[in-house]
Amino acid sequence: MSENQKDKLLLAIKEEVIQCQECQLCKTRTFPVIGQGNHGAKIMFIGEAPGANEDKTGVPFCGEAGRVLNLLLSSIGVKREDVYIANILKCRPPANREPAPEEVKACAPYLLRQISIIEPKVIACLGNHSTHFILEHFGVLESSLGISKLRGKKFAVQDPLTRKYYTIIPLYHPAAAIYNRHLLNNLKNDFEVIKEQLKDE
Ligand code: URA
Repeated sequence: MSENQKDKLLLAIKEEVIQCQECQLCKTRTFPVIGQGNHGAKIMFIGEAPGANEDKTGVPFCGEAGRVLNLLLSSIGVKREDVYIANILKCRPPANREPAPEEVKACAPYLLRQISIIEPKVIACLGNHSTHFILEHFGVLESSLGISKLRGKKFAVQDPLTRKYYTIIPLYHPAAAIYNRHLLNNLKNDFEVIKEQLKDE
């Protein structure tokens, strides 16, 4: 797909999300957080849902978790503007509660369309929710394992509808590493897995 086509399709999603009333979160959010980054990115990061800072700005991972994500990206020599970052939910759940199943069902089709337009080589899932949603969606059998068992592993999948190939890499959520040096070190190691994977592509 040409860059021009990608831009057009992603803009269409943005306009749909701005108007979206498929779940109740549109009533309480300030701005939807649609996604940010390079439309031709080789790596797509997928988080759970916007937090308070993201809700105020419309920018994914712009708070403390974003600071950790930026640090991890620079540890493997990747610029934030070269990747694409999105969430399963586009609107903030009040008080950062967990996404409800009906909210995920309503919102995830936007994310799945974003993936099929951007066609990243690597889908890096940030945290438990994102990992389980993506692994289940692509029919990976290990999807019921906890994130501590899945982190840093690579899962090669093919989208049954679009026939596109992706490598899924589950990671701890950067928010979990804000005050936990051990998790931060694990994340640094797992980012090396992303770096190696991109060399092979
Ligand atoms: N946590 C997420 O999962 N996503 C964001 O955009 C910010 C924090």
